[in-house]
Amino acid sequence: MDQTETTLRILLLEGNERQREALAVSTGQPGVELLCPPPNASLLQQIGEASPRYLFLDGDLLDCAGYQVLTALRDQPGLQDVRVVMMADGSPAARARAFDAGADEVLVKPYTRAEVLDTVAKVERFQFTFWGTRGTLPLTGEAALRYGGNTSCLGLDVGCDRHFVFDAGTGLRRYSRHLLERQGGKFDGRVFITHPHWDHLNCLPFFSPFYIPGNHISLMGPPQGDRSFRKLLDGQMDGTYFPITVEAFGADVTYGDMLEGEYRFDGVTLKAFHLSHPGYCLGYRIERFGRSVAYITDNELGNIQAGDDYIERLVGFLHGVDMLIHDTAYFDHEYPGKINWGHSSISQVVRLAHAAKVGKLFLFHHDPEHGDRELELKLAEATRLADELGSTVECLLACEGDVWDLRTLERVPAV
Ligand SMILES: [Zn+2]
Ligand SMILES: [Zn+2]
Repeated sequence: MDQTETTLRILLLEGNERQREALAVSTGQPGVELLCPPPNASLLQQIGEASPRYLFLDGDLLDCAGYQVLTALRDQPGLQDVRVVMMADGSPAARARAFDAGADEVLVKPYTRAEVLDTVAKVERFQFTFWGTRGTLPLTGEAALRYGGNTSCLGLDVGCDRHFVFDAGTGLRRYSRHLLERQGGKFDGRVFITHPHWDHLNCLPFFSPFYIPGNHISLMGPPQGDRSFRKLLDGQMDGTYFPITVEAFGADVTYGDMLEGEYRFDGVTLKAFHLSHPGYCLGYRIERFGRSVAYITDNELGNIQAGDDYIERLVGFLHGVDMLIHDTAYFDHEYPGKINWGHSSISQVVRLAHAAKVGKLFLFHHDPEHGDRELELKLAEATRLADELGSTVECLLACEGDVWDLRTLERVPAV
C-alpha cells in the first residue's frame, strides 16, 4: 500500500507471536496504519521496504539483534529520521541500554495497542517551561507581577516521560509545587546546574521529589577546582546553611561532574560549553529531532579574559539554534560599571544571536534592580537593535510560567 501524506505508518517488529496477535492490524484510527508482520531475518531490509515513520523494535528480537539493527539503522540513507521506540523490560538497565543503542523512546513490555498509539502521540514532545527568569535575587511585589520574580530555573519535558531541569533557583520551588499538585511529587529526571552560585542552586533543598522514595534523580553540574559537584552540593546541605542534610533524601539520587563536551542522556543530545563567568559555569544546548534550545546564563560577552576567540567559538556553539535563552542582566549604559561581574548587556547579546542566526532570543537573568517596566524597555532596545542589524532574530522576554513548544516554535498553554 502506498503511504499517502495523510497516513502515519507504524511498523512494529515484535518477536513474541502472542503479543503480535494481540495487536490488531487495524488501529481504528483514520490515517494511522499499524503493521506488525513476523520479523524476518533481514530486518534492515524489512524496515526499509516498509519505510515507516515510527518503528517499534523488540530489543530481544532474534537474540538481541534488535539493538544491532538500531545501531545500523542510523547509518542507512533514508532511515535516519525514523523515530525508533524500543520495547524492553522496565528496569533502569534496560532503558539505558535502549537509549545507548540510539532509541528515541522506550516502551515497557508487555504493552497494549493503546500504549503503542499513546507513545506515538507523545514521542515527539519537546517543550520547556520557564519556572524562574530573574537573576541574582528574587523580586517581589508589583514590579514582578507580569514576568515573575523567581530566580533561574527551566524545566524541559521530552517524549513520554523524561524530565530535565536546568538550575535550581527559587523557580524550582514553583516547579516542585506543580509536581506535588499534579502527580504527588513523582519525578524521575535529571537536574543540570550551570554553576553553584546561590541564585542557581539555593532552592535545591526545597525540591520535594528528593524526599519521596521511589523517585530517581540524577544531579549534574561542573566541579569547581578540586571540589566535585557532589562535594559542592553536600557543602550547601551539611547542616550549617540549611538544617536538612542530603541523608534525608528518600529518592534514589545520583551525582555526576560535567565539563565542556557533548553528552547523550535518555535519547537527547546535550552539549555543554564553558561560559565567561567567575568560576566554572556551563551553558547547555539541547537537541532533538532537528530542533534545539540553548540555555546560556550567566555569561559575560564583553569580557575579553575568556580569550580572543571566545565569541567566535560561542557563535559556533549556538549556530542555528531555534531558541536561545541568554543572560541579559544590563542595559548598555549600565554595562561600563559592571565589567567583570560576569553578565552581558542587551546589545552584546543581540549581536551574538544575530551572528549565530538563532530563531528566537529570550531575554533572561535580569539585574535585581530591574522590574517589569525595565524588562519591557530592554525588550524594546533589543528589538530596535535587531531591526537595525536587519536581523531575523525574534526578541522576547522570558516570562515565568510560559511554556514553549520546540516542534511548533510557538508558545503553548501551560498545563
Ligand atoms: Zn546568576
Ligand atoms: Zn553566577
